[in-house]
Order: sequence, then C-alpha cells, then structure tokens
Amino acid sequence: MLLTFWGAARQVTGSMHGVTVDDDLHILDCGLVQGHRKEAFQTNSSFPFDPKTVRSVVLSHAHLDHSGNLPTLVQKGFRGKIHSTPATAELCQYMLADSAHIQESDAEFLSRRSRKRKAIGVADTSVPVAPLYTAEDAAEASRHFATSKLYETTQLSEHLSFTFSNAGHILGSAFVLLRNKETRLLFSGDLGRPGLPILKDPDPAPEADFLIIESTYGNRIHEPISNVEEELKTLINKTVARGGHVIVPAFAVGRTQQIVLVLHKLAEERAIPAIPIFVDSPLAVNVTEVFRHHPEEYDAEAAGYLERGIDPFGFSRLRYLRDAAESKTLNDLRTPFVVVSASGMCEGGRVLHHLMHGIGDGRNLVVLAGYQAENTLGRRIMERREQVKIFDEMVPLRAEVATLGELSGHADQGELINWIKPIAKKLKRVFLVHGEPDGQEALAKQIEGQLGVTVVCPKRGDSFNLNEIQT
Ligand SMILES: [Zn+2]
Repeated sequence: MLLTFWGAARQVTGSMHGVTVDDDLHILDCGLVQGHRKEAFQTNSSFPFDPKTVRSVVLSHAHLDHSGNLPTLVQKGFRGKIHSTPATAELCQYMLADSAHIQESDAEFLSRRSRKRKAIGVADTSVPVAPLYTAEDAAEASRHFATSKLYETTQLSEHLSFTFSNAGHILGSAFVLLRNKETRLLFSGDLGRPGLPILKDPDPAPEADFLIIESTYGNRIHEPISNVEEELKTLINKTVARGGHVIVPAFAVGRTQQIVLVLHKLAEERAIPAIPIFVDSPLAVNVTEVFRHHPEEYDAEAAGYLERGIDPFGFSRLRYLRDAAESKTLNDLRTPFVVVSASGMCEGGRVLHHLMHGIGDGRNLVVLAGYQAENTLGRRIMERREQVKIFDEMVPLRAEVATLGELSGHADQGELINWIKPIAKKLKRVFLVHGEPDGQEALAKQIEGQLGVTVVCPKRGDSFNLNEIQT
C-alpha cells in the first residue's frame, strides 16, 4: 500500500490523499483548497495525477474542504464511484451545487471588474475568469456517489475494502478504515468531540497499523461545551441593550444547526429578548431539511425535541430566508436582530453583505463560531484588524468580535490523544494532516511523548510505502 499526501498537508484545506494498491489509485477526500484566490485556483484546477486513472474516491464528510473539488475531478475525466455515507451524499448534492454557483458568480464578478478596468485603461492582472466548475459539473459529480452505511464493509477492488464509523463531526461524517491483506489504514477525516449539540459522540478508533489524523486544534484545549449557552446569552443581551445586531458567520452544515438549537433553547427559556432571528442562507435551508431526514444521527437532546413533537430547527422567532431580496431587507432593519449566515470563514456567501453593512458600527457584534484558516476574512476579523477588505473595499472594523471556540466541530489536543490512546500500541506510524505547523508540532510532541508512536507531518507530494514500514 502506497500512501501519498496531496492536500491538507501542513494546512487545513484541500484534504486529499492517494492510496495505491495493486497499481490502482484510490483517493481519500477531494477537497477545495481555500485562501489566496489565484494560488487556490491553480491548485484546485490541476491534479498531480490523471483523474481518468483514479479507480475510486472515499469521502469522509461533506464539508467543502473535503468534498469541494469532486466536480473538477469528474470534469477532468474521473469515471469511478465516490463512496460516502447516505447523509454525506445527500448533503453533497446541495453543497456542490452551491459551491458551483459561488464559482460561477465569482468568475462573473472578476470578468466584469476586469472589463471595467480595461475600459478605463487600468492595468488588470486578475486571472482567472473562468469558473473552476459549473452547476453541470456539480450535478455530474453527484451522479457518481455510491453510499455505504456505517459499519458496513465495502469492496473497492479485489484486495481493498473499507468501513465507515461515526466521526461525530457533522451530519454524515465518518472515519474510514481501509484494509488489504497486509495493512490496515485508518483515516480520521475531521474528528468531532464528545458532547456537541445534535450529533452522537465519535466512535472509538478501531485497531489499525497506520493512522492519518487531523490536527486542526493540535495545540488547543477547548472550553467546555456547556459554556456556549451562557456566553451567547450574555453577548446577545449586551448587544441588544446597546441597540446593535448580531452577525454569526457559520458553516451551512453543522454549525448553523447547532447555533439554531442553542438559540431555540435560549428563546424558549426567555433568556434572550424577543428579537427576530434569521438564518440567511439558501444552502442552510436545504441542509436543515437534510438534517430533518436523518434523525438516526441525533444525540439524546435533539431526539428529545422530536419526541416532544418539537422541530429543533424551527421556532416562532426564527425565519429562514431563501431569496436574496429578503436577505437585503435586513440591511434596512433598524432594530436588534440575530442573523446566522454562511460562509463560516467569511470567504463568500451572503454573510459578506451583512458584514459589509454591519462591521463598521461599534454597537454590532460578530460571533465567530468555528475555525478561521489563515488568509481568510474570518481570520482577519478574529485578529481584529483595524480595517478589512470586503468585495475589494476596505471597511473599518468597529463591531465587537467574539469567538466561540466551544462549538468547534473538531476535537482538541486532549480529545485527539484520548481517541488514539486505546490503539496506540499497534500503530506503526501516525501521519498528521489538516493542521497548521504550530498545532502539528505540539500534537506530534504529545503523541510521541505520551503514546510512544512515531509521528510524521507530511508535506504535499510526500509518499510512503507502508509495506516497508515495520515498526
Ligand atoms: Zn469538516
């Protein structure tokens, strides 16, 4: 078994790893690289292998940094199956279509800007202007999905099979145990944490010889999840008292539904004033429907709502906004409200309009509820830069900024160590992916020190013949 790291190597986006068995290439995840536009486009549009030669893809979960480049793979000739859990397949249908829409409108925006600049004689170097992929490519990718339920073994080729288990990170998320005669390779995908709203806790790690594990929060310990309600309550009350509104940039999948559930609870307990709450993201509306289709994935709390006949994602003060016109009416609202809108790292989507109109006002509040990768607008807001660039315009950042790390869908250092510990004795190597260098170094030190396993932090393009690694 030959393992090659092609993405999320010393960074947190673009998850993609190659596994070659009997001369067949299989891919674990096919995510979008996010960040600097030009560089990201280059990396996303050219694969380090011929997509026609890829036999299959095994997908850990629906987040775009894991699934978002599948339409490009298909557009460039991939003809195999994309294996995922049923909930991931359903989520991807919406997420890939939405991603295509964003690619198309970004390309249109850049072309228009370039034309305008040329018309007035300003030098313009903004390439590319073609979308990375289109809605048709996304629809075509959706047709390649084949679903496997958790704990079911699926054959990828004569000698290679895999099994999904619950990763507890987002709806449908799974970790993957790949197996051939000689080798068991465990890929964590993104690993969740015990106690997250809605989701069941991650399953324990199955025995394996090699482990590829994420390290997003390799150097962090999260606050207890129980603090979230208290914190959000204080923040919302403070903002409403000064006449401001609350903007929550959130991933349409997972974070939005978790925030909605917490807001539902606070509203029910009358712990926050009776202000309107909006979920402004057509994708989140669709995705929330997918959540409603999969109650088998719920933890006891969310299941309890259903048993009492209550929709955990709908309550009287909450409105889901589907069209852009409705979304724009929020700009004129002069009374306090909460708006939850994608994208989580403020890299696109309607949240940009809310930020554009809201962050210049010191009465308002921005709540960052997830990981903010380097070079994203979310990261710059988190760092409280004096000004940030939105739609090519510098906007002063005067709003209050709060970070709710507790709702993070990623295990922290202690949780990652605890997850590996029971299988550590059998492991020959641990490969750290999906993390920035500082977090990886800290986690590597802990794993080697506490668990006695050799750790590797591969670079993009690094290859390992697992049959040759004996201890
Ligand atoms: Zn994820």
